[in-house]
Amino acid sequence: MEKILMIKYAELTTKKDNRNYFINTLEKNIMSSLSDLNIEIIKDYYRMFIITNDIDEATNRLKNIFGIYEIVPCIRSNDSSFDNICSISKDIMRDDVTFKVITNRSDKSYPIPSMELSRKVGGYLLKSFNNLKVDVHNPSVTLNIEIRREGVYIYTEGFKGMGGYPTGTLGKCLLMLSGGIDSIVAGYLTMKRGVKLDFIYFESLPHTSLEAREKVISLAKILKRYGNTGKLYVVPFTKIQESIYKELDPTYMITIMRRMMYRIGEKVAKRNKCNAIVNGESIGQVASQTLTSIKVVNDVTNYPIIRPLASFDKLEIIDIAKRIGSYDISILPYEDCCTIFVPTHPVINPNLEYARILENKLDMSLIDEAIENILTIKLNDNSVVEEDYL
Ligand code: ATP
Ligand code: MG
Repeated sequence: MEKILMIKYAELTTKKDNRNYFINTLEKNIMSSLSDLNIEIIKDYYRMFIITNDIDEATNRLKNIFGIYEIVPCIRSNDSSFDNICSISKDIMRDDVTFKVITNRSDKSYPIPSMELSRKVGGYLLKSFNNLKVDVHNPSVTLNIEIRREGVYIYTEGFKGMGGYPTGTLGKCLLMLSGGIDSIVAGYLTMKRGVKLDFIYFESLPHTSLEAREKVISLAKILKRYGNTGKLYVVPFTKIQESIYKELDPTYMITIMRRMMYRIGEKVAKRNKCNAIVNGESIGQVASQTLTSIKVVNDVTNYPIIRPLASFDKLEIIDIAKRIGSYDISILPYEDCCTIFVPTHPVINPNLEYARILENKLDMSLIDEAIENILTIKLNDNSVVEEDYL
C-alpha cells in the first residue's frame, strides 16, 4: 500500500486523434517540472500516476502545469480484496460528514459489480463510524474506488488543476511584452491553450531605463513556472520613435508607432517560427485600442494577431495578474517607451489613408536596422545570445 498522485487529464481527452501526443507532452512537462523529486510516472489513456516521496511539493508544482484537470492524492494497493478496500477506506474516511461511495472498474473481471461494491463499502463505513450519513445527491465527501488490473486506487478529494492543454502541444507565438499589467496576462492565457511563447520588447534607451528592461525580464520569467522556455527579443526602438516624434502629426504618433511595432513583430515572428503574434490589447481600453485604431494598426500585416484580452475589463485582468504573481512587478514605476512618447490628444478614430500618407515621411530602412540590432536574451540565465535576424 502506498500514497501516490493520480492525475486526471484536462480537455486533452476530447482530442481523440492527438491524445497520445498530448499525454506524452504532458508527461514530459511533468518530468521536467519534478525532475529533482525522484519520481516515477505510470500512464495510460485515462490517467497518469506519479510515485514520489514528496507528495506535497509535487502537488504544489503540478498545480501550475497546464493540461491537468485534477491532482488527486490517493492510496494504491495491489490487493483489491473487499477486506483490504474496506480497511483503506476506513483509514482515509473521516467522521461527521455526509458521504457517498463511487466505484469504477476498468478491470471488468473483478468479481463484485461496481454498485454492489459501493453499497457494501458504504455499509461497512457506516458501521465503523458513529456520525456518518449517506447523501447520494450532495455529499460533503465522495469516496472513490477505482479498480484496475494492477490494483485498487482509493481517494476522497483532489486539488483543482490548471486545465488547458499541455504547454507546447499547440505551437509557438510571439508575445508583445511591455512592462504593463495586460500583456503578461495575455501571454499566460495563451499558454493555457498549449502554446509556448517567445517575447518581443520594444525599448527606447535612453528614454526608457535598463530597470524597465529588467522589469520585462522578470515578467517574462513568471511564465517559466508554467513550463515556458522561450527567449526575449529586445528591439532597439529609439530611432524609430524619435523620427515619429520629430516628423509626424503628434495625434497619430501612437498609431504609427504601433504600426511599426507590428511590422517588426511580423518579421521576428516569421523568423522564429512563431505562428501568431499575441498582445494585451483590450477593446476601448485606450485611444490606440478602439476598434478603428486596431483596424488601422492591423493594416500593416496579415499575420494572425491574437488578443486574448479583447473583451476583458481591466479589473478582470488585474485579478488574473494578482493570481499569477505579475501584478506587483507590473506596477513598479519604470516607464515604457509608449508612456514617454504619449501625445496629449491621441486620435481615437484614425484614418487609414492619412496614416499611410504620414508614414511616407519615415525612413522604412529603420525597421531592418532595428531588427539587425535586436538583443536576444535567454531567460534561464539572462545570457545574451548572438543571432542573425534578417
Ligand atoms: P499593458 O497592456 O501590458 O498593461 P499598456 O496598457 O501600457 O501595457 P499599451 O501601450 O496600451 O499597453 O499597448 C497595448 C499592447 O501593446 C500591450 O499589451 C503589449 O502587448 C503591446 N506593447 C505595448 N508597449 C510595448 C512594448 N514597449 N514592447 C512590446 N509590446 C508592447
Ligand atoms: Mg493595456
